[in-house]
Amino acid sequence: MKGKIRVFARCRPFAGYERERGCQQCVAFLDETTLEVRGSRGPKQFIFDAAFPASVGQEEVFEDMKNLVRSAMDGFNVCVFAYGQTGSGKTFTMSGTPEMPGLTPRTIAEIFLLKEGLAGVADVTISCYFVELYLDNLRDLFYAVDNPRDTKPPKLDIKVDEKKMVYVKGVVTKPAASAEELSALFDAGNRMRKVGGTKMNAESSRSHSIFSVLLEVANRTTQKTSLGKLSLVDLAGSERADKTGAAAERLKEAQSINKSLSALGDVISALSTEEKFIPYRNNKLTQLMQDSLGGNAKTLMFVNISPADYNADETLTSLAYAARVK
Ligand code: ADP
Ligand code: MG
Repeated sequence: MKGKIRVFARCRPFAGYERERGCQQCVAFLDETTLEVRGSRGPKQFIFDAAFPASVGQEEVFEDMKNLVRSAMDGFNVCVFAYGQTGSGKTFTMSGTPEMPGLTPRTIAEIFLLKEGLAGVADVTISCYFVELYLDNLRDLFYAVDNPRDTKPPKLDIKVDEKKMVYVKGVVTKPAASAEELSALFDAGNRMRKVGGTKMNAESSRSHSIFSVLLEVANRTTQKTSLGKLSLVDLAGSERADKTGAAAERLKEAQSINKSLSALGDVISALSTEEKFIPYRNNKLTQLMQDSLGGNAKTLMFVNISPADYNADETLTSLAYAARVK
């Protein structure tokens, strides 16, 4: 694989209701990097940088990305995102549950461990911002935390500074002095995600969430400072909209998600084939991620999949998307 983009496939376990209904397994793991989907058109194999079956737990997955936290502390831009259909385990991978914490809480703990390790050598300043991209509009989740009743939040603009670092003009950036503080900020922001009248998961799966942690490291002896950014992205569900009977709002959402996910695919694919022109500006998602995809940045994409036969088509579509990256 070329460049600094890695792809991990991760399969979730069967849910209780799927076992009850007698759903069959359609994904097989052939070795540590190869999986096979047994769909209606015969078996198809995919090779990624890692292929995690459902038996692989949160800690093991984190072990395989932990080095990226150090990279961000060393001044690199790092971006980890989860792609897949709704219900495939994106949020489980990125956030996890209180009993089974995912990458974000583990990353937060690791950041502060690394900071402690630098005590006396370097001063580390940690801050973060948290935005949601819904229907091509950026929402500042921390602004929403601070102003829960404001229905007209200030508009956000995506800008690039002289060091080619992306920043969101007008976004609320919060400092965090401890892992507990940073975790509390992440949780508070998450609670402000787009939630309509219906189910939480159904709604949050229609938007992308981007939690960016800024790591400023000032070396005491050399006086040099570095700035790294670690972005953790929970993408909107990649499933195609059911056009028959979908409400107008749902169709609009689906089109917007589709556009941003194809723009992301186009950018990553252009990077991996080392094209000269990288189409970052085609979408707000890729504009926002442009300093974290390509160049010196390190990118890790999870493609989350379901093991169940009734999801085989979506699983094949997701894996094909991810395979394009390589
Ligand atoms: P998504 O965010 O892609 O819509 P979720 O992360 O919400 O999907 O996962 C759907 C359900 O499956 C949740 O109840 C989640 O806890 C569970 N789940 C997903 N992946 C795993 C896993 N690897 N191990 C255990 N449970 C999982
Ligand atoms: Mg989710």
